[in-house]
Amino acid sequence: MNDVLNKEVKFLKGVGPVKAELFNKELQIFTYKDLINYYPYKYIDKSKFYNISDISTNLIHIQLKGKIISATETGEKYKKRYNALFTDGTGFIELVWFKGIKWIKESIVLQKEYIVYGKPIIFNNKYSIAHPEIEELEKYDSKINSSLEPAYNTTEKMKNGFLNSKTILKIQQNLLKTIYNDIWETLPAYLVEKHNLLNLKNALLNIHFPKDAETLKKAEYRLKFDELFYIQLKLLRIKKVRTQKYNGFVFSKIGNSFNKFFKTNLQFELTEAQKRVIKEIRKDFNSGKQMNRLLQGDVGSGKTLVALMTMLIAIDNGFQTAIMAPTEILANQHFVVISEFLKGIDVKIAILTGSSKSKARKQLHNDLENGEIDILIGTHALIEDKVIFKKLGYVVIDEQHRFGVAQRAKMWAKNINPPHILVMTATPIPRTLAMTLYGDLDVSVIDQLPPGRKNIKTLHKFDSQRLPLFKFLKDEIAKGRQIYIVYPLISESETLDYKYLEDGLESIIRAFPQEQYGISVVHGKMKAEEKDKAMQFFVKGITKIMVATTVIEVGVNVPNASVMVIESAERFGLSQLHQLRGRVGRGAEQSYCVLMTGNKLSKDARKRIETMVRSSDGFEISEVDLKLRGPGALDGTQQSGMPIELKIANIAKDGQIIEYVRTIAEKILDNDPQLAESFNAILKNELIEKNKEKLTWNNIS
Ligand code: ADP
Ligand code: MG
Repeated sequence: MNDVLNKEVKFLKGVGPVKAELFNKELQIFTYKDLINYYPYKYIDKSKFYNISDISTNLIHIQLKGKIISATETGEKYKKRYNALFTDGTGFIELVWFKGIKWIKESIVLQKEYIVYGKPIIFNNKYSIAHPEIEELEKYDSKINSSLEPAYNTTEKMKNGFLNSKTILKIQQNLLKTIYNDIWETLPAYLVEKHNLLNLKNALLNIHFPKDAETLKKAEYRLKFDELFYIQLKLLRIKKVRTQKYNGFVFSKIGNSFNKFFKTNLQFELTEAQKRVIKEIRKDFNSGKQMNRLLQGDVGSGKTLVALMTMLIAIDNGFQTAIMAPTEILANQHFVVISEFLKGIDVKIAILTGSSKSKARKQLHNDLENGEIDILIGTHALIEDKVIFKKLGYVVIDEQHRFGVAQRAKMWAKNINPPHILVMTATPIPRTLAMTLYGDLDVSVIDQLPPGRKNIKTLHKFDSQRLPLFKFLKDEIAKGRQIYIVYPLISESETLDYKYLEDGLESIIRAFPQEQYGISVVHGKMKAEEKDKAMQFFVKGITKIMVATTVIEVGVNVPNASVMVIESAERFGLSQLHQLRGRVGRGAEQSYCVLMTGNKLSKDARKRIETMVRSSDGFEISEVDLKLRGPGALDGTQQSGMPIELKIANIAKDGQIIEYVRTIAEKILDNDPQLAESFNAILKNELIEKNKEKLTWNNIS
């Protein structure tokens, strides 16, 4: 790459130190290259000229070509204004200025041809445009020939520093003039040719100053292709390098604990999907390669069991295992469930969370280092450096979306040779998002629920229908069932008009007397011990109603609970609603999910509620979610932070391109894994360049 592209923006004509600082601070733009890659967010169509006689106030912005025939200044001091009468031969329109009058008065020349651009309004029964953009026709014609004018996002601070969209436009013009001949190419010629792409020079020119709409499309496509292709190339290469570099532990033996569990402890038949996934994992265990696998499966599909059985294989081969959960409640539950599952089997299980006492902790550290613990269950307390294993062979990470990629990486380092890793997520994510977020992982899917599960009936009710709801809940409790009632907030919010737990709890206690029903309360402000106690009461069936915030969202398992009431359901995202609903329907009884909302719903909220009522398919729901909210906002990716910031591509919309470029990248790496061929030199260099840019990338593996 040519050096000029690495020059700091302050050296560019029209920028200077003040604007450069704004670019740095507000947009993280430092170099010419950063700047040229700052693309417009929209284009204003200036290809069309309107006739004044055709104007209506429905028009948002219009462009006119004509002359100013008269101009007057009126008013005193602060009430000064400057009016110019403009005509194009078909009619008249008033141009009005309230500010900058001196400058406009001096620059306007009567009878000269101008291009005027702005939003028409009716004032005093006449059309007028306040503070129009105005430009001499001559100058307009000599500009870079573009009819679509770019508009750039700016911040408040930038605007205050006179770095608005218009200024950026001019700066981009200067930049293009300066660097045009130095613009490098990032794709090998054979790719550009074969896939009919614009070259980078052309693409960058046209993304800023499109020749026409069609060329703009081509420019966008080229840049999206580029961006998505390199993500895939990078991820696939990480995967290739990893499999070449690290040997995986081989767990070839099926031993006592697995066999005993399978023959005596396992009370039910595995689903076909579970069997298939166990086979896939076993294949990895035998491959001599380190496994990095993502296991997707809807809530209740039996992922935990798959994890447990494969952990037993590791243990039978003399290795330690760990399972990491995102919350203490969930870690505790895993501990209880797994201990129960393994009753009578000689496997030592331990738990480590933030609230483990220091004495117990010390003992545990010792036992771990001596290799006495076979299964360590815990929260992210597990990734602390103090936690040292004797022989860690296999790590399961549950509910991955709550963990950052960096945490995944940390578990790697717990053994000299990295352990096998299984990442489990109950938030099914659309294929193309998975390809982008977890493109370096192999993917397994459990797409089948254990038999006998009844579909959960999902109903939408308005707040006004609360009385019949309470009656329904009482009937269900009378049948012996238990009930969840979930609130988006603990306390009243000054800004959000949603139901909150404290208030709801009062009316629930009134309708369901404590002595008769028993109510557990769990929310995020409680101490872990209190939460756990309340949870245990509910698990044991002592309390019939669980009033909670979303802390119960993840993984909690109470098969006797058959109703999930979600208050202010419009407040929740789709995948969160789906997760919450997954808390019921775990037993043999018919289960219900009741979505309570206010009467007024936004379009998106209505779509979310409709989707929930209609569908119980996690993958379908996640597709809708992705379309509604875009990838950045998806539950989960938000918390873990997308490792990639996309400049132009959109994961929700550009799925086809993602699939396409992934196959291209695969083929290239199959033929040339090291990218050593001279015709792939560009690819190798670009990967190195991109590595420098985005350090976060390195955390992925
Ligand atoms: P996930 O972790 O995928 O949400 P779990 O592993 O918690 O699901 O399983 C949900 C419930 O179904 C658990 O009580 C589990 O014991 C049970 N289960 C798992 N697999 C089966 C199966 N094949 N048949 C019947 N019940 C199963
Ligand atoms: Mg689970």
